[in-house]
Amino acid sequence: MKYVVVSGGVVSGLGKGITASSLGVLLRQSGYRVTSVKIDPYLNVDAGTMSPFEHGEARSSALAGSRGVAAFDTDIHTRWPDLCCKDKTTSLCKDILERPHTARYPPCTSKPVVPHVTDAIMEWLERVAHLPTDGGQGPPDVCVIELGGTVGDIESSPFVEALRQFQFRIGRENMCFFHVSLVPVIGVVGEEKTKPTQHSVQSLRAAGLTPDFLVCRSGQPLAAATKRKLALFCHVPPEHCIGCHDVSNIYRVPLLFEHQGLTGERATEGGGVKALAAEWTS
Ligand code: ADP
Repeated sequence: MKYVVVSGGVVSGLGKGITASSLGVLLRQSGYRVTSVKIDPYLNVDAGTMSPFEHGEARSSALAGSRGVAAFDTDIHTRWPDLCCKDKTTSLCKDILERPHTARYPPCTSKPVVPHVTDAIMEWLERVAHLPTDGGQGPPDVCVIELGGTVGDIESSPFVEALRQFQFRIGRENMCFFHVSLVPVIGVVGEEKTKPTQHSVQSLRAAGLTPDFLVCRSGQPLAAATKRKLALFCHVPPEHCIGCHDVSNIYRVPLLFEHQGLTGERATEGGGVKALAAEWTS
């Protein structure tokens, strides 16, 4: 099984959910059975206890099971059918809290984040990723994991550490990392600034994760020179620097990716994302 991880840097709300969903669509279009998991770095055992006034994202959804509540982003994933998250981090939080009572930790051990919480995260991730979401038999081929929040946040650090350990356990060739970042244009000079992305990639690397692709959110299509600069400073090939500028309709985002060669013509010919997948295994 392959895992595609989508992390984010600089600020929240850049489009990690849209990126994860779009990658799911492209992978599915290439014939893969795809599932998705959203990691919400909140310590909530029930998304229903989160104030919609503070977070603005708890909403009703048939997907969320008996509680009837899910993160708004879950809805984004379901705009494209068959990419449903079957579980949420709320069940993980509950599991971690209940573990001492089920004697899953050795006696006399307080719960250190590493390894107890990170182990629990990895177990949860692997279990949820293997659940088929398309009604088919057996585990899906690819699981797209959206890591909520921004890399460097205290809240998400146990998840980042768990992903670092996880890639070590399952093999680097089975994981592909997309990092969503911001490329702002400051003032009338009109220059696209790469420094925020450089710093967020540094944070990601400091945590032991190396991005394979950058998804750069910007106001206008990214200049080729900006892609080259990002490639140079972020150690990612220029063709792996994918621009994601503001579009009038988010359904255009998968096409935007495709036009930049993430799939392109090759997707229908069995290339594209398949070539991408081949890259992971090579
Ligand atoms: P995150 O997961 O990083 O918090 P989301 O994927 O939820 O971000 O996107 C935040 C908002 O930005 C959503 O309303 C989404 O529709 C919008 N958005 C994301 N990417 C684009 C884009 N390229 N153009 C226009 N709107 C976008």
